[in-house]
This record gives sequence, structure tokens and C-alpha cells, in this order.
Amino acid sequence: MPVSLPMAEPPKPMVHCLDCARCCTYVAVGINAPTRPKHATEILWFLYHDKTSVYVDGDGEWCVQFESRCRNLQPDNLCAIYGVRPHICRTFDENTCEVNSQEGTSHTFRAPEEFLAYLQQHYPRVYRQIERTHTVAEHRPKPVARG
Ligand code: SF4
Ligand code: SF4
Repeated sequence: MPVSLPMAEPPKPMVHCLDCARCCTYVAVGINAPTRPKHATEILWFLYHDKTSVYVDGDGEWCVQFESRCRNLQPDNLCAIYGVRPHICRTFDENTCEVNSQEGTSHTFRAPEEFLAYLQQHYPRVYRQIERTHTVAEHRPKPVARG
């Protein structure tokens, strides 16, 4: 009887910057990991705002991200100030960026409930410290069943 072998996922097709421009449509800033109640509620505060998300990348670095298009991004996706663009813009690399990376190990939170479920699982002590005093009941994950 033939045995079907597991198939490797085909690599994602490469996206080029001029077809994308994603890097020029947000601002991301490093923040503290939610290792303390104050840091965890800061992340909740970010997530209470429109067009704001928080992510942790594969290296464990936490960032807040604000969706905001750069004023220098032209309709054809070219940069109007390319020759004098900031240092950070010069680090954009289409080979390793979020769109083309094959690793996909980052975790993005777009709503308080997504973050609280993660916090309960990965930082349970911090979660318990803020649960009653700093979270909205509707955002809390369901209690974990004890066996
Ligand atoms: S570096 Fe990646 S995410 Fe940024 S514009 Fe280029 S293809 Fe898009
Ligand atoms: S300055 Fe240019 S490269 Fe930098 S974010 Fe704005 S449009 Fe993109």
C-alpha cells in the first residue's frame, strides 16, 4: 500500500519593495516585555488605541506598532527623500523583512483579549497580579481547567 510522505511547505514567493512599501506605513518602537504588572498594563493601554498593535519577534523583542503612512512615500511606492532618508530606512531588507521572512516566529496582538490570553499562558504570575484590578472582564480568557 503506498504511503504518502509529508510534503514540505513551498517557499513563499518573494515580494519586492516597490510592490509592497509596508515598511513605510507604520512606526514601531521597542517596549518592555510584560515581566511586571506595570509593563503588562502598558501593553493593554497600547491595545486600547485604534491602529495600534504590539508584537514580540522571534528574538523575544517586544514592540508597539502604530499604523501611519510616511509623508515621503509617493504613490508609486518610491521614497521622495531617498538620498537623505534616515538610518532606520536604510536597514529595510526585503530578504529578511516581515513580509519575506520564511521563519514566521513573531506573535502579533491586535486586541486586549489576544494579549491577555498570551499573558495568562506565558506570564501567569503577572496575569494573576493584574487580573482583578487592571483588566476588563470581557477581555479575560476563560479560566484554565484544572485536572
Ligand atoms: S522590506 Fe519587505 S516589508 Fe519592507 S517594503 Fe520591502 S518587501 Fe515590503
Ligand atoms: S523616509 Fe522614505 S524610506 Fe523612510 S519610511 Fe519614509 S518613504 Fe519610507
